[in-house]
Amino acid sequence: EERLRRVRDRVRSFPDFPEPGVLFRDISPLLKDPVAFGALIDLLEDHVRASFPQIDFIAGLDSRGFLIGPPLAQRLGIGFVPVRKKGKLPGPTESVTYNLEYGKAELEIQSDAVEPGQKVVIVDDLLATGGTMRAACELLRRLEAEILECLVVIELKALKGSEKLSSIPFHALLQYD
Ligand code: IMP
Repeated sequence: EERLRRVRDRVRSFPDFPEPGVLFRDISPLLKDPVAFGALIDLLEDHVRASFPQIDFIAGLDSRGFLIGPPLAQRLGIGFVPVRKKGKLPGPTESVTYNLEYGKAELEIQSDAVEPGQKVVIVDDLLATGGTMRAACELLRRLEAEILECLVVIELKALKGSEKLSSIPFHALLQYD
């Protein structure tokens, strides 16, 4: 597919970032190229429209999910809900601690972000170990949202992150080994 090729052509790889042994996939060139970024949002829109006739919100993960989620939500004519790193959101929040390769991290969502039963697709740029996405799912589950899908631009297949999401539907536009 032409649009998918445009997107793939704008993902760069950096060895040994942020630490030795890690091959970092960088979407900065994708954001910089309006044709490629438009193709990305088109592809995501088509996917969501074809899969989910009924959807209330796009939830996006801090930080690069905030770059992709709002333009996608606008296309779909629905709202966007941020899932943030600890300590950024005012008012009552739900929070969840999860394990990183080294140490721990915490994600939060505002308690009134969604109503019980509302249908949500969670987006991020990339799924690696799946820990971040799983934590976001836990937050939305606490708010009793119906999680339709976890949707990412890039899946790092070798890390088997999608297995961490167990029964929650998962979709990636691009896969890397
Ligand atoms: P996970 O929790 O291990 O799945 O890591 C996913 C999170 O870390 C996402 O929010 C990504 O934005 C970020 N991340 C991990 N590896 C990469 C990478 O190679 N490129 C860009 N972001 C990454």
